[in-house]
Amino acid sequence: MPAQIRHRKDSTAAVLMIIPGILLLVMLAGLHQLRSRSPELRPLVDVDVRRSSFTSGGIPGSATISRFEPQQIRVVLHEGLLSSATVECTAPYIIHDFISGRPLAHGQLLRAATIEAMPTGLRVGPHLLDTSAIRILPQGNALLGFDNHFYRGSMTVHRTGSEQGLKLKPTFSLVNHVPLETYVATVVDSEMPATFPQEARCAQAIVARTYAIARHKTALPSALFDVYASTRSQKYLGAEYINREGRRLKGETAAGVAAAQSTAGMVVTYEGQIITSYYSAVCGGRTLDGQTMSQRTAPCLKSVVCEGCRNAPLYRWQASISGQELLQKLSDSRKSADISTMPPANLATLMTIRMRQDSKGSLPTFTLTDGRNFQQLSSMELRRMLGTRELPSPQFSLKLTNDQIEIEGQGSGHCVGFCQWGARGLAQTGLTAQGIVQHYYPGADVVKYQAQPLHFAEAPHVTSGTPGKATR
Ligand SMILES: [Zn+2]
Repeated sequence: MPAQIRHRKDSTAAVLMIIPGILLLVMLAGLHQLRSRSPELRPLVDVDVRRSSFTSGGIPGSATISRFEPQQIRVVLHEGLLSSATVECTAPYIIHDFISGRPLAHGQLLRAATIEAMPTGLRVGPHLLDTSAIRILPQGNALLGFDNHFYRGSMTVHRTGSEQGLKLKPTFSLVNHVPLETYVATVVDSEMPATFPQEARCAQAIVARTYAIARHKTALPSALFDVYASTRSQKYLGAEYINREGRRLKGETAAGVAAAQSTAGMVVTYEGQIITSYYSAVCGGRTLDGQTMSQRTAPCLKSVVCEGCRNAPLYRWQASISGQELLQKLSDSRKSADISTMPPANLATLMTIRMRQDSKGSLPTFTLTDGRNFQQLSSMELRRMLGTRELPSPQFSLKLTNDQIEIEGQGSGHCVGFCQWGARGLAQTGLTAQGIVQHYYPGADVVKYQAQPLHFAEAPHVTSGTPGKATR
């Protein structure tokens, strides 16, 4: 799950050394308040009005008042933190202070403009800005480019790292704030081939929207983003992108927009709560229980039979490795502390492998022995050890013949929830998008998000006047 970038973590430490604790608390509370009213939420009049009513009396303790309809999703465009980046904008733009919303600079276009975190602020192309967080807003429908991808919406830059007096190199994060339905359209096109039936793509739109809103809901109040642009969350190429061959392609098509529009606002809920709608490429004929990923997944993330993905490229796959190689990988992984659950055993050679699987939706575990000692490993641990490319899913069996291990597997990805290739097959049999979604989340409902009061397990009751707390 996305590890959120904590803004100003280091600066907090610096301030701690020089300012009495009580003053620090007051400052942080003020900062939190300001962030809660971040400029990207200002155009959302209905949301802000509802939030204001929470704070002026509201109905403390009622779950319905924690409802929040995000109109914008925050997508972080890179892993880790950046020390410099190149951005472009082919239209007039304005740069705002992210916290106050005050305009700081503007220009006619940004061409290969460098963003740099300075000791006391940020530099964007020709603009030196004495602030730690900004928002670049292009005029009209112009796109903002970063790293060969071109995005709709705005881009925020949050400086982190050093403050005055600290010798750490200042860094920053780049986050694209994009309207929810625009984001959903692009994810459909990024995640699912255009050749898949439209009902499968509409089902993908519902699942992608649900996932994004669920991530938004569970993000910490201090989080700067909801989702990654990669398959770490869901793939988001932007409106356009340049591929490896240097061709500029559409990351958002008319069919993707149609899939988002025809399902606009529709989400997956279970007993009135929006779920984290995990999904993967190919389940291999049966999805896995949500429990294989996390204890906290919704009860409708159950293992189901999937008839739809049998024509998928990785419906079945094979791999092999020598016993000696496996023991070497085991020893290497132990050094890097990748294997945590079982006490290590130094197997001299591999004599037997036994497999155990408690139920069809659970993951197999393996017991490796050398005749005297034994080592237990889950299929997840083995997959981590041997690589996710080599073992495309955690559903596989092992067979030891002489010193060679034959691996037979099924599916691609974690195999929990919605199966993208399965959705293709089910759509070809005439199932609707809603029917497809409900097949993979049995017992769940597909509802119009804005028409239905939703209750969020993660949302705290509103007991204070801090709007930000009411929303997460
Ligand atoms: Zn499947």
